Amino acid sequence: MQSKDHSGAAPYGVEKPDAEWQRELTPEQYRVLRAHGTERAGTSPLNSEHRAGMFRCAGCGQPLFKSNTKFDSGTGWPSFYEPLAGAVGTSKDGALGMQRTEVHCSACRGHLGHVFPDGPKPTGERYCMNGAALKFEPVSAPPTAAKKE
Ligand SMILES: [Zn+2]
Repeated sequence: MQSKDHSGAAPYGVEKPDAEWQRELTPEQYRVLRAHGTERAGTSPLNSEHRAGMFRCAGCGQPLFKSNTKFDSGTGWPSFYEPLAGAVGTSKDGALGMQRTEVHCSACRGHLGHVFPDGPKPTGERYCMNGAALKFEPVSAPPTAAKKE
């Protein structure tokens, strides 16, 4: 039994029968994660998520992106310049006649979105993600640091 709960240390190989994914995910999550769908731009509530926290895979819960790597790309999809180490895998995607790099969760292989080489510093990469493929978990502020604005 492993009881690691550190970022990026989720177990590899979350494999489930398709029917199980279909049961566990919402139709939109299933369409994106398991059927390589793309949500409509501007529809994800995560576009305007600016709190500190962790973006996890909506399929298996693996931590993927920290909130401090999120930026406003103006595309209508949640965008990040850097994933957690080992959290995502990529593959070449020739769909739509364009050469794009597909991005998926390294644990469950759920489709997340694409990565483009036109992001901001320091990486210069733009991870253009479907909000439906992500779950945001805000950092719960420690009681001593609680501030009223
Ligand atoms: Zn996953």
